[in-house]
Amino acid sequence: MRKIHTAESLIEIAHLRNVLVAAGIACQIRNDRLMGALGEIPFVDCWPELWLENERDALTAKGLIDTELRPAVPSADWTCPSCGETIEGQFSDCWHCSPPRD
Ligand SMILES: [Zn+2]
Repeated sequence: MRKIHTAESLIEIAHLRNVLVAAGIACQIRNDRLMGALGEIPFVDCWPELWLENERDALTAKGLIDTELRPAVPSADWTCPSCGETIEGQFSDCWHCSPPRD
């Protein structure tokens, strides 16, 4: 067994697990049982972890995880030149003045 990734978000860990399983890499999530028991335990120790069943998958798994965690688009907010609305970086169109798409 080998720990390959730790994240604050169980959703992220679960997503990465799905990615690895889809690639044929056996892995499991640990620490999710502690999510309801925060308090006495140092916070980082409670973060969910993704563990590989086989050491030999580490390099492939790391590559897949790096790819998944890399943002697909720059996520900086931008300002619409037409109406001045601030738009979150993941959107390519202004929600305020762009016509709805068919
Ligand atoms: Zn606009």
